[in-house]
Amino acid sequence: MTSARVAARQTVADLGEFGLIDRIKGMLPRGNDRVALGIGDDTAALKTSPGMLLLATCDIQVEGRHFRLEHISPHQLGRRSAAINLSDIAAMGGSPTYALVSLALPQTTEVAWVDELYRGLGDELGAHGALVVGGNLSGSARDVVIDITLMGEVAEPLLLRRDGARSGDAVLVTGWLGESLLGRLALERGLDSTTPAAARVIEAHLTPTPRVREGQAVAARKGATAMIDISDGLAADLGHICSDSNVGARLVAGALPVSPEAREAAANLGVDAIEAALHGGEDYELLFTCPADEAERTAADVVAATGTPVARVGEIVRGEGIELVTSDGSRSSVEPRGWDHFATVEGGLKPPST
Ligand SMILES: [Mg+2]
Repeated sequence: MTSARVAARQTVADLGEFGLIDRIKGMLPRGNDRVALGIGDDTAALKTSPGMLLLATCDIQVEGRHFRLEHISPHQLGRRSAAINLSDIAAMGGSPTYALVSLALPQTTEVAWVDELYRGLGDELGAHGALVVGGNLSGSARDVVIDITLMGEVAEPLLLRRDGARSGDAVLVTGWLGESLLGRLALERGLDSTTPAAARVIEAHLTPTPRVREGQAVAARKGATAMIDISDGLAADLGHICSDSNVGARLVAGALPVSPEAREAAANLGVDAIEAALHGGEDYELLFTCPADEAERTAADVVAATGTPVARVGEIVRGEGIELVTSDGSRSSVEPRGWDHFATVEGGLKPPST
């Protein structure tokens, strides 16, 4: 992405709304043969494909609530804002296509900051084949707000929903759990960010990796019964699959994918890594179910297609609620409390259970 030179410390107020729109338009790729009309008219006009379902989602990032400007660069913020939306398209097994970006900016925002935000947006969306085709700009009294509407598509037979899990299915998850929460706590508590463990969890928090190719690989196998992305936490999001599918689930604590770096960061923060994996949220991994006898091959196919690890973490059972089995065989019920628990209760995590 290229942008015209900007005077040092020039603000969005100096440039004006239409100047900023022109600038952003100039930075973005021109579109593709399915964009009949892109930025500049009242709406974008897009050609749809026969046999495909249109997917649409939106997710907002609000300064002070989802990010703090002292912790995240504009490029990282652009990537993160795109990633959380891409993750929702991934959770349907879909391919992202077009994004609309609404930005509310304080007048003092520097144009160079907006340039970097759009570079981050473009880098993350472009890496997954999506284009910005429109949006909206507004002033803001104080905080930066970024709201992205993202569209995508999926072939109708490949659509994966939350309500298809069946008793006996295996429960699988991509990648690693708990790192985003640990990264957020590391930033908030000023943990030394130069250690490899802290650097890894902070990166996981600031620039999560949307599992778009992984979602497509799961969908392509046609064996999965339900899928969701982990935004609220494993327990809360598995809870959504369970309640929508009228089933319960059993999770095995020892099977949860917790990296050595997450264990180290958790120990340094005085929190339990398993609790972070269960309830941390914002990991943007994919959680899916499939018949138990297909679990191994499905996981192997996703690993082969993407290089991303897949862990079998439990099973779907009759009834309701989620049960956790620990290494000593004890069973406890897991309340799906999710992200908000940590957002509102400082130090709400249990101390490590060593
Ligand atoms: Mg979601």
